[in-house]
Amino acid sequence: MKEFNINQLVRKNILELQPYISFRDHNEFEKPVLLDANESPFGEFNRYPDSTQKKIKQKLSELKNISPDQIAVGNGSDELIDLIIKVFCEPKKDSILMMNPSFAMYGFYASVNENRVIKLDLNENFEMIKDEFLKTIKQGQLKIFFLCSPNNPTGNSVDDIEFYVKNFNGIIVIDEAYIEFSGRKSSIKLLEKYPNLIVLQTFSKAWGMAGARVGVAYASKEIIKLINTVKAPYNVNSLSLDLLLKNIDNQEILNQNLENTLIEKSWLKNELQKIKYINKVYPSDANFFLIEFKNVEKVYQKLLEKEILTSKRTPQIPDCIRINVGNREENIQLVTVLKEMES
Ligand code: PMP
Repeated sequence: MKEFNINQLVRKNILELQPYISFRDHNEFEKPVLLDANESPFGEFNRYPDSTQKKIKQKLSELKNISPDQIAVGNGSDELIDLIIKVFCEPKKDSILMMNPSFAMYGFYASVNENRVIKLDLNENFEMIKDEFLKTIKQGQLKIFFLCSPNNPTGNSVDDIEFYVKNFNGIIVIDEAYIEFSGRKSSIKLLEKYPNLIVLQTFSKAWGMAGARVGVAYASKEIIKLINTVKAPYNVNSLSLDLLLKNIDNQEILNQNLENTLIEKSWLKNELQKIKYINKVYPSDANFFLIEFKNVEKVYQKLLEKEILTSKRTPQIPDCIRINVGNREENIQLVTVLKEMES
């Protein structure tokens, strides 16, 4: 176990606070008369959701083989990114580290919290260079490192993740939003060894429940308590919790989604490779492709004209568009427009 004093990294004011847990969620009652929360006694969804998300944590704990008090549930992993920054980063003082290019929301929430964002450039194959990483972390005090694997928008996974966890002395967040598509093992198993690690997962991608907004953080009990301290009491709504409880027992939903996505991904890749003005389809461990075009602006505008929305990337990868795998009908629409542009 790596030696670590979490309290030294936490914002001082947060250390003095306790998580808000509503009285009814704190205690075991058999058949309580609920006159404590100014809710309406009428209607179907008239009650506040469980502020501790007990049932879903129990399920996740069995599924991931980890204690329920090592799990925090958020309104999407987006919320968890925000909460983690709030717990550890002193506004105007602390900095975070992220890969470049990587998921924009790390920088966004850091900026909202008035923290500096240090970017570690990836090489031409979108890999991290270990020496550069070591050099960067020596240069300044960095509170959090957001490591995204598979990385958005590049699509590749980071190799030898433990190297980064071992060498980073702040909080390291491994964002596994796309891990199910990669077939790789989760870093949750590293939690036993590294008390400064947080692993993020989400129900938005492979589970197909982006509309429900549920993300999960796995970490030490101490870190989870701190995340729960800064979260809004009822951050995940009852509709989403009910849906999740219903679906989580049915791994078939995940498997079917995954299988369908992987079939479509391979079909789409095959079609994309036939298009002459595509320079490169980058290898992807996720449900999207980063594609380099000879005529990126024209392609992007043409797709937009046809109301096919894609994600055009800026400065570091100006010739690339990120396109996610759709269903067959959507993929055919995409490929048809791309092929039309060849003639
Ligand atoms: N992490 C990464 C790498 C993502 O790409 C996304 C969504 N685009 C998220 C986190 C946020 O996911 P959600 O808030 O839907 O859980």
